[in-house]
Amino acid sequence: MNQPAFDIPAVPAARLPDLLRAMPKAELHIHIEGSLEPELIFALAERNGVSLPYASVEALRQAYAFSNLQSFLDIYYAGASVLLKEQDFHDMAMAYFERAAADKVLRAELFFDPQTHTARGVPMATVIDGLHRACVDAKAAFGIDAALILCFLRHLSEDEAIETLQQALPHLDKIIGVGLDSSEVGHPPEKFARVFARCGELGLHRVAHAGEEGPPAYIRSALDVLHAERIDHGVQAVHDPVLMQRLAAGRIPLTVCPLSNQKLCVFPDLADHNLRALLDAGLCATVNSDDPAYFGGYMNDNFLQVFAATGLDARHAYQLGRNAFEGSFASDELKRGYIAQLDAVFESFR
Ligand SMILES: [Zn+2]
Repeated sequence: MNQPAFDIPAVPAARLPDLLRAMPKAELHIHIEGSLEPELIFALAERNGVSLPYASVEALRQAYAFSNLQSFLDIYYAGASVLLKEQDFHDMAMAYFERAAADKVLRAELFFDPQTHTARGVPMATVIDGLHRACVDAKAAFGIDAALILCFLRHLSEDEAIETLQQALPHLDKIIGVGLDSSEVGHPPEKFARVFARCGELGLHRVAHAGEEGPPAYIRSALDVLHAERIDHGVQAVHDPVLMQRLAAGRIPLTVCPLSNQKLCVFPDLADHNLRALLDAGLCATVNSDDPAYFGGYMNDNFLQVFAATGLDARHAYQLGRNAFEGSFASDELKRGYIAQLDAVFESFR
């Protein structure tokens, strides 16, 4: 895709927050189950007659004090237990789309974790049909182009991932790709080589979480063994200069999630986040919310807080916006349209 270079205006620091709020965005790393706000968890629990191990919305919110990935995942799976019917999955995604639209998200590629639901007896069709209907409705209600990426849970076996792919085969027209998420350390990408190879044969896009808490070697095997087109997180790449050069030369998108990294203590102080180093090294880094209900913010919160903490400027904002559109799985025609809208908003700040 060729797009003429854009002359990025110098925007004074005082106007930068307005620019960050107004700029069109693509979100490429959002686990839709991680957008479940405590209020919606309680509403769905009541609708479905599910009892929760928390007395109130406030008690649940107070439990959102994580020290690492695993302590978060324990609560995340408990929250997902209220999702039983197709309408529940639809309503969860629509709540996210409404917030995304307010943050000027034009395109959203949603991760979902079917094994979290099929293990509880919820049929694959219920999950995918509800989410897919929300993606269709998101276009009509909010003008958002939305797509679904099915994620395999890496703490489970590859045979279980293959079984999950088998269950999803009748629904492949409703998903654009597959990913790999959940507990990273001890579960390297190569554990899922066979299922990812099969997904490649099926024409699905492939992405994988790698280098969040795990080592740069996991990023390499995600690329070399899984043939991942994007790396989710990838912030540990900075410890491997040769890998950094490879990621930059290949323009391989990294879907970075600043507030998630802070909450899970990858970078306990947001001021220490390495987003600037990734951008300055020429990597195709993007900003995303990961599990926004749990990590304290949606897209604009992530942009505003990481820019304030690390002193990024309008040039970085433009690059992040453009990287996300280019790194999306949208058609070239859609990408050109998104980038034209991005350019127009930056032009209006000149
Ligand atoms: Zn994630």
